[in-house]
Amino acid sequence: MAQKKYTLPDLPYAFNALEPYIDAKTMQIHHDKHHGGYVNNLNAALGKHPHLFDVPIESLLANLNSVPEDIRSAVRDNGGGNLNHSMFWKLMGKNMGGDPVGELSGAITKAFGSIDDFRKIFEAAAAQRFGSGWAWLSLDAFGKLTVHSMANQDNPVMEGRIPIFGLDVWEHAYYLTYQNRRPEYISAFWKVANWKEADLNYRNALENIDRCLSVADLRKVS
Ligand code: MN
Repeated sequence: MAQKKYTLPDLPYAFNALEPYIDAKTMQIHHDKHHGGYVNNLNAALGKHPHLFDVPIESLLANLNSVPEDIRSAVRDNGGGNLNHSMFWKLMGKNMGGDPVGELSGAITKAFGSIDDFRKIFEAAAAQRFGSGWAWLSLDAFGKLTVHSMANQDNPVMEGRIPIFGLDVWEHAYYLTYQNRRPEYISAFWKVANWKEADLNYRNALENIDRCLSVADLRKVS
């Protein structure tokens, strides 16, 4: 059974841990206010249909048409917001960066030709997402790594993919330091990217691909 109520996870490092690449004030507002807001709004929405607290959020997002219409948008935006940010904080850290590691490293090279080619493709996806959204590295239904972007707080599970690694390109993620210079923020992200965590996500995704993809099973929502 899932928890009865969602809670804001602690940031796994200090607000200033990612400086000078991502400033402490941005991290504090982003975590406490933005992510905190998604958690509160998700709880408020699910509180109108409390049995849905027992359904994994991935299942709700993968089956939005089965979510009651009065809370569908709220679940999409705030359930996605909670899921995305909970993963994102762990994908960064102090003294990180460098190249992908572990099984993910070889898989990226195989899928994209080289680590540098992957970086360019991911940077383009992040830079070209118009307005608010995320760039993602995901495992698709065939076990293939793909780079793509999604709008707002949409999560790859909504497209039957399992997220491995992602970058928040909402202005709230970078505006205080970088203003309109999103490409500089994307470059800075490579300095704090936690590839060990991404490799863990990749190995978990491979192990659970059948289960993860079965979140599209409508029976789980009813
Ligand atoms: Mn954000």
